[in-house]
Amino acid sequence: MEIFALHSEYLSSNQGRHERGVMNVRAVVKNGPGPGFDLVDLEAKPLGSRDVLVEIEAAAICGTDLHIYDWNAWAAGAGLPESFIVGHEFSGRVVAVGDAVRMVKPGDKVSAESHVACGQCYQCLNGLQHICGNLKVIGVHTDGCWAEYAVVPECCARPIPEEIDFHTAAIMEPLGTSIRCAQLAEVSGNTVVVTGCGPIGLGAIAAAQAFGAANIVATDIVPSRMELGQQMGATHVLHGVQDDVGVLVRELTQGVGADAVIECSGNIPALQAAFKYLRKGGRVVLVGLPSQPLTLDVGPDLAFKEATVRGVHGRRMYETWQTMESLLVKGLIDPKPIITHVLPMAEYEDGIHLCKSGEGCKVLLLPK
Ligand SMILES: [Zn+2]
Ligand SMILES: [Zn+2]
Repeated sequence: MEIFALHSEYLSSNQGRHERGVMNVRAVVKNGPGPGFDLVDLEAKPLGSRDVLVEIEAAAICGTDLHIYDWNAWAAGAGLPESFIVGHEFSGRVVAVGDAVRMVKPGDKVSAESHVACGQCYQCLNGLQHICGNLKVIGVHTDGCWAEYAVVPECCARPIPEEIDFHTAAIMEPLGTSIRCAQLAEVSGNTVVVTGCGPIGLGAIAAAQAFGAANIVATDIVPSRMELGQQMGATHVLHGVQDDVGVLVRELTQGVGADAVIECSGNIPALQAAFKYLRKGGRVVLVGLPSQPLTLDVGPDLAFKEATVRGVHGRRMYETWQTMESLLVKGLIDPKPIITHVLPMAEYEDGIHLCKSGEGCKVLLLPK
């Protein structure tokens, strides 16, 4: 237990409140089936040889956390562990590492790559770790990060440049997903529609702007989020229900249709409409998750158009990170407006309600 002793020494010398070999950690946990979370003090688990101990500076609330909090049909059927620390978006600093860890060292500033890849399946051996056949997600299938300290596998602690501040770093996990959507949409010089101005959609708008999109049409139904869409760089913002996106798109493209649609709303009518105003040969990137199966008219919507449909399940490990870090360090993307609220971790319930009501967009929780 040399490593554990090492980090305890670090802690006692820096904070003077931990006994050697024992460390209590305040954390938000999911305790068994049913709605709700609990704020508890836990004894930190010892580091495995491939684990990293991170002192958390900021954690963020994601839609997945809301599903687990509510214990909806997905959460109930997802085979989640009996009890676990929730949360998968964080920033922090490495305090200690297991003896087989090579990618990070104590003192490194890190952000969260939430995907835990097995390293051995077909996908992992072919450059697709982010869709590993045995994929696990921290804070969903294993302990997460709504805590003073988190123990995560090495692959989940991404070292990032010091220039990136901790609040921004806490939302790089979703921002990377947004950036990847904009890359797959091939937006440069093109007209792109981003449906849904939640954290992923807003990040996609910012990325589309950074990549040189000619027109960025954003849609939502919540006024504050429509405003954020504008702030993040949308050239046009429409109401997703009251306005006709197709009319504007045809106007902007001399009747041709959108080059690309990044669907972030998961709203079925919005998704079906996207295939109508998409141009022939256009691209639809799907990242929003509809709650039910949907119907498409395969002939006109897909085949005759030769539409390209791409699903996105997150960042590529780690190409997307390289791109994102460059964009952030060079100031080509500023995701700060996406963070609408910053709360002490103990007020996580308020944060959850802000997200659910739509009043909050990205809400950060600070453990100290
Ligand atoms: Zn997330
Ligand atoms: Zn794998």
